[in-house]
Amino acid sequence: MKYQSTRGFSEKKTASEAVVLGIADDGGLFIPERIPELSQSLEELCKLDYQETAYQIMSLFFPEFEKGAFRQAVQKAYQSKFDSHGIAPVIKAGKLNFMELYHGPTLAFKDLALSFLPELMKLSLEQEKINDKVVILTATSGDTGKAALEGFKNKEGIQIIVFYPQDGVSEMQKLQMVTEDGENVFVAAVEGNFDDAQSGVKAIFNDKNFQAELSQKGIRLSSANSINIGRLIPQIVYYVYGYCQMVNQGEIAIGEKINVVVPTGNFGNILAAYYAKKMGVPIDKLICASNENKVLFDFFRTSTYDRNRSLVMTTSPSMDILISSNLERLLFEISDRNSQKISELMIELEKKGKYSIDEKMAKNLSDFYGTFADEEEVQQAIADVFRESNYLIDTHTAVAVHGYRKYKEETKDETPALIVSTASPFKFSGSVGEALGISKNGENFYQEAQEIADFANVGIPFQLKKLIEMPIRFTQIFSKREMKKVVSEFLRL
Ligand SMILES: *Cc1c(COP(=O)(O)O)cnc(C)c1O
Repeated sequence: MKYQSTRGFSEKKTASEAVVLGIADDGGLFIPERIPELSQSLEELCKLDYQETAYQIMSLFFPEFEKGAFRQAVQKAYQSKFDSHGIAPVIKAGKLNFMELYHGPTLAFKDLALSFLPELMKLSLEQEKINDKVVILTATSGDTGKAALEGFKNKEGIQIIVFYPQDGVSEMQKLQMVTEDGENVFVAAVEGNFDDAQSGVKAIFNDKNFQAELSQKGIRLSSANSINIGRLIPQIVYYVYGYCQMVNQGEIAIGEKINVVVPTGNFGNILAAYYAKKMGVPIDKLICASNENKVLFDFFRTSTYDRNRSLVMTTSPSMDILISSNLERLLFEISDRNSQKISELMIELEKKGKYSIDEKMAKNLSDFYGTFADEEEVQQAIADVFRESNYLIDTHTAVAVHGYRKYKEETKDETPALIVSTASPFKFSGSVGEALGISKNGENFYQEAQEIADFANVGIPFQLKKLIEMPIRFTQIFSKREMKKVVSEFLRL
């Protein structure tokens, strides 16, 4: 299977080249040259455990790797990192089905892809016979940083540096990063907001002299952010597995269609659901739920994507995004894979901050339904779900619950739905406690977690408990100008 750029000006690459490169040299995103169909019947797939499902689904996208090594990589990625609830359990709460994707080391769904990416990166480097040392540089608005650190820690031949905005992450997210214990990691706070950290990292990637200096020393930079195809493919797996759990739990008959509801920011998670649908998983509607940064809702309604607006800080910070990078991959599919068209749209986005799609493309969006929740509706959804079924949800998942309710009200569609639950309520205990009327957001986060645990009569996840005991390792704050120096010093150049 070859991978091509959405913008069409780059040569096709092998999967391992695409994983190592991260982004195509024409600025486009890598996509598989065709989306494969499921190679087994649903009956067969629904007998498999998570790892075996992952192996079967991902092999279709990465057939070039030696089977034994690939299977081992999958096993290793999902073997011991997830807690006793399982990797992606579907839980029924009242009438709602939640797929809990937060049982990994960082209590949010990015663990599912970032547990596998390092294994995939290692296989790809071997396949490409690259002996360079790889340095992962990542800017994070909170969840990606820690998930990447956990994934890449102590991986031979790979080092990782995470930059987080000093003023842009929650107390718990920060503590998760600054207590990281891997040997090969560095964590740096950067003055300013996420955009500052992000543009600083981009500047390092674009510094050709620096790259040349690194290359001479046998060092290559790479990235762990969600435009890497190696992060997208692992996310398809849980839509197959989630569907099967609904079958196995008797919620639906095998082959019956479901809707999926996804709290969305960068459009990676919901795009994986779209790929699963294209592969043959019986999914009908893809309900795309945004918070107050509702660029996507406006896009689905008006066919115009317009990021000319201010970013709103909400209680679902991992969705506070105005540029949904992965949407480019969907545009490619709905334009019948017209890379000329995609290049034009992306140039417009760069120049004017907006673009409009034509009627034909818009028609192909009928699988999607855009919706959004404001801050009050998020709080309401958390309180409602707890009152109705004694079940705690986090703020991101609450955006999805509200979106689903709005969808049902508007369409009267009674198709069974799978709501994707992207973070543990304990990761955002302050906001959850506030919604439940039991605490004030902004107290000590451990205290807040204890309060909602007592209120709901459940235990605090060990991933969070552990955090309190870990020594703080990284305390330095750097200006944006110093970021390159941080890299040089860490690498002892
Ligand atoms: C990253 C994240 C999202 C958004 O996912 P995308 O793939 O960027 O759409 C939603 N919820 C949580 C908790 C996240 O960490």
